[in-house]
Amino acid sequence: MRLILVGGGLANSLIAHRLAALRPDVDWTILEAGETLGGNHTWSFHAGDLTAAQQGWMEPFVAASWPGYAVAFPRLQRRLPLGYRSASSERLRAVMAPHAARIRTGLAVRELRPDRVTLASGEEMRADAVIDGRGYRPSPHLRIAFQKFVGVELRTAAPHGQAEPVIMDATVPQRDGFRFVYTLPFAPDRVLVEDTYYSDDRALDPGALRGETLDYARRRGWRVAEVLREEVGVLPIALGGDIAAFWADAGGVARSGLRAALFHPTTGYSLPDAVRLADRIAALGELSAARLHAETRAHSVACWKAAGFYRLLDRMLFRAAEPDGRYRLLQRFYGLSPDLVSRFYAGHSTLYDKARLLSGRPPVPVLRALRCLRDSSNLVTAP
Ligand SMILES: Cc1cc2nc3c(=O)[nH]c(=O)nc-3n(C[C@H](O)[C@H](O)[C@H](O)COP(=O)(O)OP(=O)(O)OC[C@H]3O[C@@H](n4cnc5c(N)ncnc54)[C@H](O)[C@@H]3O)c2cc1C
Repeated sequence: MRLILVGGGLANSLIAHRLAALRPDVDWTILEAGETLGGNHTWSFHAGDLTAAQQGWMEPFVAASWPGYAVAFPRLQRRLPLGYRSASSERLRAVMAPHAARIRTGLAVRELRPDRVTLASGEEMRADAVIDGRGYRPSPHLRIAFQKFVGVELRTAAPHGQAEPVIMDATVPQRDGFRFVYTLPFAPDRVLVEDTYYSDDRALDPGALRGETLDYARRRGWRVAEVLREEVGVLPIALGGDIAAFWADAGGVARSGLRAALFHPTTGYSLPDAVRLADRIAALGELSAARLHAETRAHSVACWKAAGFYRLLDRMLFRAAEPDGRYRLLQRFYGLSPDLVSRFYAGHSTLYDKARLLSGRPPVPVLRALRCLRDSSNLVTAP
């Protein structure tokens, strides 16, 4: 059985890793346009997003783990005892290194069909099935807003003194939507600082945001000895869409990762979904093109439908709240129980959680909130 995985990013690397462990009969090849696998990312997730078994097999990808994290808002400072983990591109490349013979980098794929691909060079490669994992591409069938950020990993001249992540410091001035700074302390003298915006538009000035991260570090009293790395992200936040029409554009090709719209609607994070899809694919018997397309489509559609509540919250955040007052929704959210927060990130909110999230004194105008209740699945706006 021969499988071509187009795109050597997070989702396809995890699929390949699981197939190597559980399906040695599958002869897979990754085709990656870039010079290396996995890009330049930190992929964070809540420990509770994954099952114990999934946490076990993901362990080699994880570069750092913490037992809890903090959030800071004008009226709420809080530590949540929820395990937080970060996988990294570097670890991903190390885990995948033993499979180097099956990974071809510097090869852009020009055209995909369910059972063959055409490379930019014109060369054609055939297989039993192809999986398209080329990452996010705007679709006229999804209504999205953006989480955008620039992150710099700093070496500080002296220990920075922060033991755990601060995943939202929203005490910073609010502009361009909801703004916060995200910090991950990788070592006593190494910290990632990300200046992040929940914004209606994807435009981003990397130079200006880089300056903001360095200013933030200075305000925290950290003297920067060296900038070790930089990452830039513009992630989709789902407001609505038509998932069937989205898949109609796939031309019968199986999809993974962001290409399959597999991300948490409110964060744009895709690691937990990528882990679940890798497990699902590795557990399939037959891996024909038709079966893989049907399975990845069914999985994506089911996840999309199950996540309608999160898209409603996103519409409230982006359409009902005033941009500089958006932080109040998050401030209220993080004041709720850690278990509720954990289930929210895992995409497993209960009916009680949903009622809790929508009840109480609303931090958004009621009439505008009511307008958000209508699912905009039939409204199509090009991003
Ligand atoms: C800077 C950054 C930080 C992020 N942080 C987090 C996080 O903390 N937690 C989280 O869960 N999510 C995070 N995300 C969001 C999301 O999880 C990532 O974007 C994730 O990498 C998406 O996985 P993917 O496999 O769908 O796509 P990608 O990982 O983007 O992989 C797609 C791959 O396809 C390749 N490709 C594209 N076109 C072609 C072609 N024509 N031929 C061959 N190859 C091609 C690309 O070069 C790329 O390597 C982050 C995203 C970014 C950009």
